[in-house]
Order: sequence, then C-alpha cells, then structure tokens
Amino acid sequence: MSQTSRVAVLVAPRHIEVREEHIGPPPPGAIQVRVRAALTDGTDLKTYRRGHPKMPFPTRFGHEFSGDVTAVGTGVTDFAIDEGVMCVHTAPCGRCAWCARGQEELCEHIMPTMLLGAYADTIEVPRTVVERNCFHKPEHLSYREAAFLEPLSCVVHSLEFLQPQGIVAVIGDGAFGIMHGLIVRERGAVPLLIGRRPERLEIARGYGLEVVDARAVDPVTAVRERTGGIGADAVIECTGTREAWEAAPAFVRRGGTVSFFGGLPTGTNVTFAAERLHYDEIRLISPFHFTPRDVRAAYELLAQRRLDLLPLITQTYRLGDIAEAFARLDAGEGVKACIEP
Ligand SMILES: [Zn+2]
Repeated sequence: MSQTSRVAVLVAPRHIEVREEHIGPPPPGAIQVRVRAALTDGTDLKTYRRGHPKMPFPTRFGHEFSGDVTAVGTGVTDFAIDEGVMCVHTAPCGRCAWCARGQEELCEHIMPTMLLGAYADTIEVPRTVVERNCFHKPEHLSYREAAFLEPLSCVVHSLEFLQPQGIVAVIGDGAFGIMHGLIVRERGAVPLLIGRRPERLEIARGYGLEVVDARAVDPVTAVRERTGGIGADAVIECTGTREAWEAAPAFVRRGGTVSFFGGLPTGTNVTFAAERLHYDEIRLISPFHFTPRDVRAAYELLAQRRLDLLPLITQTYRLGDIAEAFARLDAGEGVKACIEP
C-alpha cells in the first residue's frame, strides 16, 4: 500500500518547499503517525536562518510533535492504529559506552539517528523510539499540549542536572527560558526570568513569574538587589548566544552554579574571568539532551496537567503556510508556532 504525504523541506537558508512524497508501510518495530500538531523551536529557527552542520540542505526538519497512529510495523504490540501518541525524536541505543555508564543523553547513536520531519502529514517513528520514548496520549491532553514532550524533556534533564535551590536567575524569555522558570518553581525554588522582548515578558508575567526587563534595568544590578547584594544561587543560560554565556557568571553568588543550557554553534569559544571562577568557587555545568527517565518525568508533568504550556504557542498555521510561519518567527514575532497539517 502506497500513500502520499506532504513534507516541509528546507532547501536553502530561509527557503522552505512543501513536497509530496510516497510513503510505504513502516518497517518492523516502527509506526507511522499522522501529525496533528508540530511545534517550532529555536533550533528549527537557527537552521532556517543559517543551516545546521548536522542537517545539510536539503533537509526535512521539525521534531516536536504528536499525532495519531496510521500504521504499525510487524512486532509492534504497544500501539495500534488510530491511537493518539506523543514521543521525542531520539532514543539511546542501550549498548554503547555512555549508555553502559547510565549517561544515555550522551549515547553515540542519538545525534546520527534523530528523527526529523515533523512538519509533514505523516512521520515514521523508528523502532528505537517506539520501544523507549513513545507514549499513549491521554484523552484529556490536546495534541498541542502533547507536542511539548520533547522540549519539556530537555528542561527536566537540565534541572535534574542543576537541582535548583534558592533564587535561580534564568537568562532568556523564549519558550525554554519560560519553561525553565515554571519547572524551577515547580521544584520549590524561586525563578527570576531575565529578558528583553515585551511580548514574551508579558507571557512570563501571565504565569506569575517574576521578570527582569533587561531593556529597562541593568539585569546584573537587578539580580544583586533582589538577592541581598550577593547574586543568585544559580543562573541558567537559555539564549544560546556567546554574549549571554560570557555574561552568565556575573549573576551568580559566590559558591553558586552557572548552567549553560543553550548550545552554541560548533567552533565557538567563550572566555571567563578565571579569578571569579576560582576565588568565588563558581561551578559551571552544561546539561545536554535527556534520558528516557527525563522523558517519562516530562510525560508525567504533562499527563497530570501540572503545567499549562499552551500560552507559549502564539501562532498556528496549516502546513501549506509554513513558510509564512518561519518568516514571522524570523522577524522576531511570537514564541512558538504550531503547525497543524
Ligand atoms: Zn548508546
């Protein structure tokens, strides 16, 4: 049985084509999913602007999604046709040196095998993901909410690494910054969200998060004042810019922790004052990706509705209008767009 599916392909910077392709039956262990909601993220926007070393043009893209099962490969017993599913786009192999050490986020197979192409009518989810990082979508959860599983897994992992306590400065008012603020609060610590985009700061305020508007005040001074002059217990960098990485240690108190969540392009070097790091005993950490345990924790947060992430979706488009969606994000509008094919 052969069918066609539309898929968005990035053929050059700022140039998306929606192509038709034939899809055959899924291989053993895999499932085919009709995409019902796919969310844009910062990596997609960066790839749209300048390409990505791991995704040479032309490339399909998009990896935050949920949908309904339309076909199952032989051997699949956990999922059936017409069931709603939510998953992430990677799974560790369980056999490499890093998996053996329990550091599954560093699995050698994660980057080469990651699933891309969620901006499509249909996506094929490989066996490894079906077996380890795929869940039934609860009836009460919308497809849009379920599509947050992947970004939320990243945030859960980040905060497993950090173990936030006290006052935590979060640099960045994008979706990852705001999600960090929400989970930091969920963990009982006090987030201070630092940003400069009015629309995004308003969304953060709508969640009841305390914000520092970096256009109005010097954010380092503001964080010092808020922390009795000593600085935050931890700071989390969520912008993925070199400037913010280098500025981050200034927000933290003596003995505090700086967590670099937002990755920088390959080849980037950063510079810190050694004196500050050493004599003030600043700990630097840089969490990457997530493990199946983090994905399950993120699933539980969503399934139990302990967070409402829908305000982070500021635009919705049909697949045929995806070029417009990215043109607007590129122009700085909104936070996340949802593509509903
Ligand atoms: Zn592995």
